[in-house]
This record gives sequence, C-alpha cells and structure tokens, in this order.
Amino acid sequence: MEKYDSMLDNLYSKLPEKAKEKSRFKMPEFQAFIEGTSTIIPNFIDVATALRRDPKHLMKYLSKESATMSTLSGKRLVMKGKFRERLLNERLGKYAKEYVLCKECSKPDTSLIMQDGTQFMRCEACGARSPVAGIK
Ligand SMILES: [Zn+2]
Repeated sequence: MEKYDSMLDNLYSKLPEKAKEKSRFKMPEFQAFIEGTSTIIPNFIDVATALRRDPKHLMKYLSKESATMSTLSGKRLVMKGKFRERLLNERLGKYAKEYVLCKECSKPDTSLIMQDGTQFMRCEACGARSPVAGIK
C-alpha cells in the first residue's frame, strides 16, 4: 500500500489541471416527485454515479433515514411514502458528508473499502483513511 500511495502522490502532483477540475466538484441533487403514495427520484442512479457510490448503498441509507422501503426501477428510485425533495436532498448532503467527502481534505475523490470487517473511506487525494458507520 505504501508504494501505491506514493505512486498516487506522484501522479497527482503531475496533474495539476486535473486536480483543479476536481476541486470544482458540485454536489449532485435529487429530483423528486410524488406519484400516488410513493416518491419517485428519477435521477437516482445519476446521483449515485456522480458520487461514485454503489446505488444500493445510497438506497439503503436513504431508506433507513426516511424509515421506509425503497426499490430501484431502472434509473429511478421508488420510495414508499411522500417525501419532499428538499428533505431528501438534506439527507443526501448528510450521506455525502459521512460516506463521500474526505474527513481530512473534504474532497470527493474517495472510495469505500472493507478491512478486517470494518468499512473505511479512503481518500485518493490526500491518502487519509477514516472508519465509517455501517448501514443496518
Ligand atoms: Zn483527503
């Protein structure tokens, strides 16, 4: 890992343009509308992709926070119950803070890794690694 880290550091120092581009990261937002007794998020997969997270991980988080059940349907997420778009985006913001943005440098260039049964968020920009809470 040591070797890989310094390799990455080298790589990043040679790519100032790319780093600049990444610092312009814009937090994606859910679009949401109510259909009958459900809430539909038509751009759910796009948001998960922009955050580079497994849609199922984000779905699990959002369902738990909203105390409801959700299902993926194509690119959309269908949630049981009526939820306001603003509220869902607040929860998305919390998710990003906990599972996407580096706790040290706040960059979004992170990935989730499992190590010894604990989930960590590893930052590709600064190399920081912080444990994250599991979603039950
Ligand atoms: Zn970092």
